[in-house]
Amino acid sequence: MHDIRLLIGGESLAAASGKTFERLNPMDGSVATRAPAASAADAVRAVEAAAAAFPAWSALGPGARRAMLLKAAAALEARTPQFAETMAAETGAGAPWVGFNVHLAAGMLQEAASITTQISGEIIPSDVPGNLAMGMRVAAGVVLGMAPWNAPVILGVRAIATPLACGNTVVLKGSELCPATHGLIIEALQEAGLPHGVVNFITNAPADAADVVEAMVAHPAVRRVNFTGSTTVGRIIAQTCARHLKPVVLELGGKAPLVVLDDADLEAAVNGAIFGAFANSGQICMSTERIVVDASIADAFVSKLAARAVALPLGDPRKGPVVLGSVVDMRTVERCNGLIDDALAKGATLVCGGKVDNTLMPATLLDHVTRDMRIYHEESFGPVKPIVRVSGVEEAVNCANDNPYGLSAAVFGGDLARAMDVARRIESGICHVNGPTVHDEAQMPFGGVKDSGYGRFGGKAGIDAFTELRWMTVQTSPRHYPF
Ligand code: NAD
Repeated sequence: MHDIRLLIGGESLAAASGKTFERLNPMDGSVATRAPAASAADAVRAVEAAAAAFPAWSALGPGARRAMLLKAAAALEARTPQFAETMAAETGAGAPWVGFNVHLAAGMLQEAASITTQISGEIIPSDVPGNLAMGMRVAAGVVLGMAPWNAPVILGVRAIATPLACGNTVVLKGSELCPATHGLIIEALQEAGLPHGVVNFITNAPADAADVVEAMVAHPAVRRVNFTGSTTVGRIIAQTCARHLKPVVLELGGKAPLVVLDDADLEAAVNGAIFGAFANSGQICMSTERIVVDASIADAFVSKLAARAVALPLGDPRKGPVVLGSVVDMRTVERCNGLIDDALAKGATLVCGGKVDNTLMPATLLDHVTRDMRIYHEESFGPVKPIVRVSGVEEAVNCANDNPYGLSAAVFGGDLARAMDVARRIESGICHVNGPTVHDEAQMPFGGVKDSGYGRFGGKAGIDAFTELRWMTVQTSPRHYPF
């Protein structure tokens, strides 16, 4: 059992009230973690600690910030065994997913280290004689980051790495479902020697989330917010930020289409679909959530896909490496069972897998899915995937866009010009030709359109999101005034 603490101004603390909440292991119901149930007042103290640390951290040269972020990357990777044990206990994740999480998160810290020297600006020609005009990127202030449980190391690090590199100080609000996993990120950053207050950590009981978040967003020192999670909560956060005029990056839900055109390399498409649909049991925002396949090749594609899906290793992640570990909770099982019942009642066919009554869910494929079925529209966020058969490119594009979400997408096709044209017409922030919908790299502009949110993490786009662009001038010769 993990017993964790808040981190406020370098001090490891309980909630002022002494209250705690528990995260139960999704596989056996035992207590995985006991964490402080911070109040709004605790959260405000964390913001104030971050505000106090801001002047010195933002004034530090890029080399010093870079050195600490690189140390943090190494400290994070050194904790891989602890992440494996803690993530399995809190979220049911299998070892391959944990390994990918820690590796990419360390890469994000390394990338953040490298951008410390890229936070620059430009000289802009001025019409005023003798006027040297500059557009300068500068640190914004305190950044509030909120991350979910499903890719907890990647998304926890993403919420704070670029903000720190840009000279901001941060408060990370951990997920109620994986507070100890998020706490390990904070430990790694502390080991790297970040000054007190540069990184602060808050955990809260689920019932207090709205109060805790509102108190932090409202605080004048908080100048940027980022939130990764569901579209439902993202809308609430957007409204809260609007009330307090705080810019926010929102990375929300997805329903990624994978389009298989009639000339696709079927092996490549099957490999991409299997990985994109079933990595981490389909609990990834970029997970392939709709397989849109041309009817002329659909029978061959579906039989190859089914052969791979039934062979995926499934089991208790604590007993050995598996692709399909436990899903995060019984709510996921119930939601997916409901989607299967609905689709079958309306005429879909079950290709493999099916309903279960525990969190070890098999890879499930539903064929002949149509738009009157819930799974055509709704995020399963589990290993249950619809296949929609279409005729020709126009129907494929229309089907891919027939959804409120727009995070990731994929198109498989032999004629690259045609596949690229389909990709261009798909309404999503991210689209891969002949690659899976699940793909993330630290330096890429990551984010969605439509109900998947707005703003971008990653690389140069991340610098734009977490700095202010200031116009500054120096008058180098006598200035002429009209009066
Ligand atoms: P969630 O939105 O249910 O919860 C996220 C957090 O919101 C919780 O930690 C909670 O503290 C907070 N919250 C809840 N109610 C609130 C309120 N009223 N006010 C303020 N905060 C509140 O999301 P989840 O279940 O943890 O994550 C799964 C979702 O995240 C999926 O929809 C998935 O697609 C999405 N996701 C998106 C990305 C991306 O990059 N776009 C990445 C991963 C996950």
